Amino acid sequence: MTHAQMLLEGGTVLVDNDRFAALSLLISDGRIKALIPDGEGPGDAERIDVSNRLIMPGLVNGHTHSHGALGRGGVPDDLPLEAFLSGGAWLNGTRHLDDLHLSAQLSAVELVRKGCTACFDLFVELPGPTMGGIHAVANAYHDVGIRAVVAPMIADRTLYQALPGLIEAFDPPLRDAVAALSLPAWQTIMETCTEAFGHWPVPKDRVRPGIGPTIPLHCSDAFLQACAALSQRDGIPLQTHLAETRLQQVMAAQRYGTSLTEHLDALGVLHPQFSGAHGVWLSKPEAELLARHDACICHNPLSNLRLGSGIAPVRMLADAGVNLGVGTDASNTSDGQNMFEAMRLAATLSRAQTSDPAAWISTRSALKMATEGSARILGLDRVGKIAAGWAADLLFLDAGYCHYTPLRNPLDQMVLAENGAALREVMIAGRYVLANDTILTLDEGALAARARDVAARLDGANAATRLMNEAAALVVQSFCRGNCDGYATRLG
Ligand SMILES: [Zn+2]
Repeated sequence: MTHAQMLLEGGTVLVDNDRFAALSLLISDGRIKALIPDGEGPGDAERIDVSNRLIMPGLVNGHTHSHGALGRGGVPDDLPLEAFLSGGAWLNGTRHLDDLHLSAQLSAVELVRKGCTACFDLFVELPGPTMGGIHAVANAYHDVGIRAVVAPMIADRTLYQALPGLIEAFDPPLRDAVAALSLPAWQTIMETCTEAFGHWPVPKDRVRPGIGPTIPLHCSDAFLQACAALSQRDGIPLQTHLAETRLQQVMAAQRYGTSLTEHLDALGVLHPQFSGAHGVWLSKPEAELLARHDACICHNPLSNLRLGSGIAPVRMLADAGVNLGVGTDASNTSDGQNMFEAMRLAATLSRAQTSDPAAWISTRSALKMATEGSARILGLDRVGKIAAGWAADLLFLDAGYCHYTPLRNPLDQMVLAENGAALREVMIAGRYVLANDTILTLDEGALAARARDVAARLDGANAATRLMNEAAALVVQSFCRGNCDGYATRLG
């Protein structure tokens, strides 16, 4: 017998991202229809016993890159962002459409296993996006059953063209090699994206398009404006890496004569569907500009630490009125896409920036950033909270796990202790995707076997490029240090 409604009984539910209560959840059409006292509810609903579970909304990852899943382990321990972009470019080379699909499936499975039910994916396809590639990634998320914004990560300048003075820092013959690199014209890229979005292969209620001009310096002004026009015309989210490193601001001053955010404002790129990833080196005037345009920043604390980018000024951004979400960044820069860790760091890192507890990011604020805040970045309707009418995207934590024994303050214990180890089931749009330590939507063993084979093939095919990239990264590294007088870590 199939039931139109499902009644989850006996659990302890995080209501409105604010308090836990013993309630049953009535689920219908992928949404939470009602929160009702245990023992009540319609007699014809399928009843599921969820006692011994803490039920919270699914975490929403505001910034990741699915291509990073097949690049896992490929980012050396000692590379900051720009050196990684040059030294690790080979990781994304010679990929077929099947490889893009595989990498997105791998990434999605990792996200679900760590409590994420929706993500913003800036995926890259080289040398430029194709309709087949964009659709392959969209299909991968559809297969796994996770929500996603699929945003081609695009640029019309290479790293070497983007940073003023970088090519001149090279000696021949490497200078000739990096100078010869090029990307497609932005008009071609925009045509491809527009066509791919217009023929979207899966229902848009769960997997939808977005646009991802990768880093402002890597995109010509006309290109950035075309991305913003598409975003506003079609109502799709736009995301770029904004002030991720100090070097990006130094180079912006040279190229534009202004900060990055002021430049984007002058181009008309800032709007409510705009989000900047990282925002480590944003100033207060920039934060105020973002807030004035109702724009968003996605905080990626672990990636910022891993790549030595710094600690984002989250309190300053919040006080200025910027919408904030939380993300992980890619599997190879973070190095596991664990939204519980990212949420926990959002709360705890703020305590390293000031001794004033009033300025810390509270557990409730971190939770809201990692759920409703990120959902706002993805442009999702009523996602990220357990309330009537909101999406049935739910995590079920084992209330008997050590993190919750004894249980005094479940919200604080969840934000400050949870790392996914107590996660037992994941539901997305009213459907179980993880249960009994098994992803229910695909064969994980077969996926892993394919991933190992494909990674071996790609490593062989990209071996020569890797040598060139690694030689270039040494020059990029010294260029960055020369232009940034060392890697000063931002603390406030
Ligand atoms: Zn990123």
